[in-house]
This record gives sequence, structure tokens and C-alpha cells, in this order.
Amino acid sequence: MINLLDLDAAGLAALFAELGEKPFRAKQVSQWVHQRLAGEVEAMTDLSRALRERLAGIATIRGPVVVSDTTAADGTRKWLLDVGAGNAVETVYIPEDDRGTLCISSQAGCALDCAFCSTGKQGFSRNLTTAEIVGQFWHANRALLADGVSATGRPECELGPLGGCGGRVSATGRPERELLPLGGKAHSAKGAPMTVPWVDQGRAPITNVVLMGMGEPLANYDSVLSSLRLFLDDNAYGLSRRRVTLSTSGLVPAMERLREDCPVALAVSLHAGNDPLRDRLVPINRKYPLARLLAACVRYLDRAPRDFVTFEYVMLDGVNDATDHARELAALVRDVPCKFNLIPWNPFPGAAFRTSPRARILAFQKTLMDAGFVTTIRKTRGEDIDAACGQLAGRVQDRTKRRIRIHSAAATATAP
Ligand code: SAH
Ligand code: SF4
Repeated sequence: MINLLDLDAAGLAALFAELGEKPFRAKQVSQWVHQRLAGEVEAMTDLSRALRERLAGIATIRGPVVVSDTTAADGTRKWLLDVGAGNAVETVYIPEDDRGTLCISSQAGCALDCAFCSTGKQGFSRNLTTAEIVGQFWHANRALLADGVSATGRPECELGPLGGCGGRVSATGRPERELLPLGGKAHSAKGAPMTVPWVDQGRAPITNVVLMGMGEPLANYDSVLSSLRLFLDDNAYGLSRRRVTLSTSGLVPAMERLREDCPVALAVSLHAGNDPLRDRLVPINRKYPLARLLAACVRYLDRAPRDFVTFEYVMLDGVNDATDHARELAALVRDVPCKFNLIPWNPFPGAAFRTSPRARILAFQKTLMDAGFVTTIRKTRGEDIDAACGQLAGRVQDRTKRRIRIHSAAATATAP
């Protein structure tokens, strides 16, 4: 059975060509799935009954299986999603005055084994499919809209919720494109009017998406690319490229491909200003060292929707947080148009690091600012529900397994 969430525009076009249907059917179905957020083929009432029946015979819309759904005191909401074989991934919604950002996962676990990352410590299980990546966005939209959450559309500030990796909107303070343009009511398969709250509200609660959850998105290139295309597609979510940010630990060849295939906003996890230190913290550096990585960043900017790369830098007490490190870093990236986002390290059990003291983070920030770099410090969100960066797996993992066992019946019941 095909999962319609798995197919980008090209995939849907191929499906309808195979069925001998007109190409516009693919667009219609895309709008039903991603804009009206339909949960079943039967809801697609502007397809003929015969086509609906044919389609329902081969395709379905299978969203994620939700293990838990928690909202933190600061409004951050986290869904834990079962991806089978005892694995779970997380999706985190971060509401702010001027935007709503969804942080999504691209892999169950991660093979790159960065020293300070709980996902890395968990090891690699598998790549998520397009349906599992896009399904996070689809599900969060449905859940938020069902709860009456919508974006505020107020003018936005310079930097995103994750300290600059999110997007900037147009000068009017409105998103470049509003979602859900179809308007009005739909009809159920039996022809009775059916309320479509997400359409009636006219605004989607999620304005920005960041691939900064679990996994290395560029190590799951094909599924991530199809997902990015759906986020940007006017017949799907219609986000502007500036509002879609991919974070990578620095897979240089895949960065080159992304630049050609779908250049969205880019965040790069730097974490060190010299190769020996970065080799230790981010082992992929041994394969793609700093000189190659920074050259790839500069090349990426030719096609990027923004004129800077965001460098993420996790602050590890006594490891990479001295002002000398900041000076070295400033010299290293002198020729790269960039901004810095300092991330206070989020602890997890068994890790051999400590978070840098606030004073040291501020001193590090000042050194970079004095050298002329816009530098923000990431606000920690959703701490009380373990939704902060890099906390996603470690602490959650054991509980995840337990929860999956305990709640498997409930989880099935909450799956859309
Ligand atoms: N794999 C990608 C994207 C996911 S990680 C990457 O590495 O960029 C998203 C960000 O969270 C990265 O910058 C990563 O270095 C950071 N991170 C990982 N573990 C962390 C932790 N325990 N505390 C704070 N940030 C962490
Ligand atoms: Fe993977 Fe990113 Fe964690 Fe490194 S920081 S182990 S690349 S998820």
C-alpha cells in the first residue's frame, strides 16, 4: 500500500500517470494531503467516486504513531513518535510571538557519534522515510490546528527561535506565503458538509521548519530531499526557502548536492575552531576537515536563500569555551559570511561534559561580537519535558522503550 505522505510532486505525478489520470489530479491530491491535511482518501470529495475508490485500493495516508504528546510550561510541545523496533523519534514545536517553528528528526539515532550528543551515543538505527519526516509536519499541523493554535503573524525579530537558524519573514512581518489557501468547507464522502478547521482558520500554526532534531539529515539525503521539496511545494506546504533550515555536522559532498538540488537555509555545527579539537568532538571532521567544510559553506552561499551560514557552537565547560577559542574561531571564519549561535550544552546521563558557566558563554559571545560577528545564545526551550537540543534521545530512550511497551495500545489509538 502506498503512503501518500511518501510522495513528493514528482512521485504523485508518476502515480497518476500510471493510473492514466490527468496531471492535475496529482496537484489536487497533494493539496488534500498537505494543505487540507486529509487523513483518508475518502475525504477527497472533488475526485470522482470511482477515482477515490481506485486510489483507496492502492494508497492510504498513514501518519505517525504517537507515543506521547507533552507540552512544557513555556508552551513548547513535544511528540514522541514510534518508528518501530523499539525506536522513537521526536518532533518539537516551539511557539514564539511571531512564528511557530517545528524541529523535526531525520533518522532514528545517528551514526556520526559526536562526543557531546545523546542521539549519537544512542547509535544508528535507520533512516526515516519521506513519509516519516513529512508526517511529523503533517501531524503537528493537524494536532495544533485541532487545538485551535495558529500563528500570530506579528512582525518578527531578527533571529529565530533556535537563535537564528529559523527564518526571517518579509518586511511586512507576514510569512511569504500563507498555507491552506483552499478555503471553506469540504464534504464527506457521503456528501454531508464536514468542518475543516485548518482551512477555515486560514493560517497554519507552523511557519518555520528546522531539521535539527534527531539524526544527520544529509546522511539520509534522498528522503530529506523529497521532504524539503514538499515543504517548499506550492501544492503542499508552500514555505519559502528562508523558512526551512537544515542543520548538518558537515557532510561536504552532500552539502554540494543540496546546493544544486534544493538550497534551503543552512546551519553548520562547528563546535571547534581547529581540526584536532573538532576531530575529537565531531568525528566526521577527520573525513571533511575545517578547510574543506568552510570552502563548501562559501560555495553554498551562492545559491542559498540567505546571505549567511549559521554556525552552531555548543558550549562545553573547559573544552571549547575559552576566549582564546573564540579568537581562534573568529580568525578561522574571517572570510565566511556567517552568524554564530552558541548553544549551552544540555546534559544527559553518562556524558563526560559540563555546560559552560553563563559568564564564560557571555565572554565568548563578546569576543565574537567584538570581532564583528552577529552572535546569539540559544534560549533553552522545553527543558521540563526534555525537549531541549540534544536531550532528545538519551534520557528519553530508555523511557521510550518502556513507554512503547506500556502504551502500545494507547499509542495505536492516538495515531491519526
Ligand atoms: N545532525 C545535525 C542536526 C541535528 S543536531 C547536526 O549535528 O547539525 C542539532 C544541533 O544540536 C547540532 O548543532 C548539535 O551539535 C546540537 N547538539 C547535539 N547534542 C547537544 C547537546 N547535548 N546539547 C546542546 N546541543 C546539542
Ligand atoms: Fe548526529 Fe548531529 Fe548528534 Fe552529531 S550532533 S551525533 S551529527 S545528531
